[in-house]
Amino acid sequence: MEIPKNHPRYESLIRRNRLIEFYEKGIVTISGLISHGRGEAFDYILGEKSNDYAILSEKAALGLILKSKKPVISVNGNVTALADDAIIEFSKKYGITVEANIFHWSQERIEKIVKHFESKGLSILGRNQNMRIPGLESNRGRCEFEGIFSADTVVIPLEDGDRAEALIKMGKNVITIDLNPLSRTSRAGHISIVDDVNRAFKNMASFDRDESISIYEKFDNSKNIVKILEFMSIRLSSLKDWPDNL
Ligand code: ATP
Repeated sequence: MEIPKNHPRYESLIRRNRLIEFYEKGIVTISGLISHGRGEAFDYILGEKSNDYAILSEKAALGLILKSKKPVISVNGNVTALADDAIIEFSKKYGITVEANIFHWSQERIEKIVKHFESKGLSILGRNQNMRIPGLESNRGRCEFEGIFSADTVVIPLEDGDRAEALIKMGKNVITIDLNPLSRTSRAGHISIVDDVNRAFKNMASFDRDESISIYEKFDNSKNIVKILEFMSIRLSSLKDWPDNL
């Protein structure tokens, strides 16, 4: 579909098109399209940009990643479609392992995600998912020993709440990225980034290391989430110029 550059929702339409393209390639699932809709609705309320609280949590997350012995970023179909280049840049900058890890598991879809990253110059794990996350039945718990299974810190963008909780029960530090601050995933995270996945990785690649570590050492996740909820309600109640100036 041709999208005119001057369309007021150009960026959003481009991203939707990309998700459809990746759905047709067999990387995004049909339920991934629904998840995107939920994320977009929250992003509208957030003003479609990273607010100060998102930035603070992203700095804290980078601090935790830098302090970790073995951080791993988990990528699924939507994350691949929406943030592949940002993840490649971030993971190369800090030498962080990436693993394809999906909720609706199939070897074929894992293979497609791994190949997609390889075609862009980054080798990622996922082909050899020989371990299980305890507490999750069958395929939902699959992961690699060299990756998520032995990681001390896992970054889980757009994750299902059950898997986030299961990773926490394994004793891992869990960094979530989810536009919905009310999701079970956001509520489970040690550091809950409430921001778009692409913006989050781009931001994290740009921060100063030392500043991020010192922010991590003082970071209070619950307080930060409460600030985000306040930000959302203030933003909605201050939109008095509706329908203009959104
Ligand atoms: P949970 O199981 O954690 O309560 P859920 O049922 O909403 O959450 P899913 O549909 O499995 O979870 O996951 C999708 C989540 O990803 C949604 O919470 C949605 O807000 C979020 N999301 C969708 N698109 C984006 C995006 N571009 N960036 C960040 N988060 C997103």
